[in-house]
Formats: sequence, C-alpha cells, structure tokens
Amino acid sequence: MSYSKDLSRRLRKKLPMVDYGAIEARVVAHEMPNFTMVVPPHPDKYPKHPGHKGSVFGGICNRTACSQRHAVFYNRGTNGYYCADDAIAINRYSGAHPLCIRVDHDLTHDEMNAHTRTMYEEMRRDRVAG
Ligand SMILES: [Zn+2]
Repeated sequence: MSYSKDLSRRLRKKLPMVDYGAIEARVVAHEMPNFTMVVPPHPDKYPKHPGHKGSVFGGICNRTACSQRHAVFYNRGTNGYYCADDAIAINRYSGAHPLCIRVDHDLTHDEMNAHTRTMYEEMRRDRVAG
C-alpha cells in the first residue's frame, strides 16, 4: 500500500494514526552508523552538525534533512561532504563552477582550502574574461 493511500485510510479513521516522524527518527538513529572522523571538521564548515555528519568522506550527507550514506562529494562552499543526490541538486544552482566536486578520500584542511581557493580563482578568471 502506498503511503498516501495508507494516510488517507488513517485520516478516515479506519486505522489509528501512526506517528511517521517518530518512526523515521528511530530508524535514522538506529541506522546512523558511527563513522570514524579521520580529519576534524573544517573550522568554517556549515552547518556545524554534532558528531560526524557531513565530516567524513563516504559518511553521512551534510544536508540537515538528509541521512544518506556514501557522501563522496565535497562542497567547496560549506566544507562538508554530500551524497550524490544532494550534490547534483546543489550544483544545478551553482552556475559554471560547481560547488560540489567528487573526491576520493578524506581531505585535509589544506586540501579543503585549496579547493575553495581554486573555485574562487575560477570565478575571478571568468569575471575578468567576461
Ligand atoms: Zn544528501
């Protein structure tokens, strides 16, 4: 049965209401694996989630409303790691110079800073050329 069909049945009081939010929170808490932080979060990382969320290559996505694993895209603006779905969505709105880039390891702070500098350099070059 689809979620909306189930909800519609419950709203017609054929079944007791279920708190889907509570179930989802329990599932997320249960499934949240304890990824080991290899590099501490960048001091400018946004947002500052507690724990390892968004701070581990291959870990949990940095987007607040997302709990997907396999966050292998690094956001040169927020200094966090994102899942492919969110990285693609973010890049759709970030113009010629994608904010999110695919990386293959936990970046050091120097590497993070270099990626951010590179992005600003690309943008500056475009402004000069344009
Ligand atoms: Zn995500």
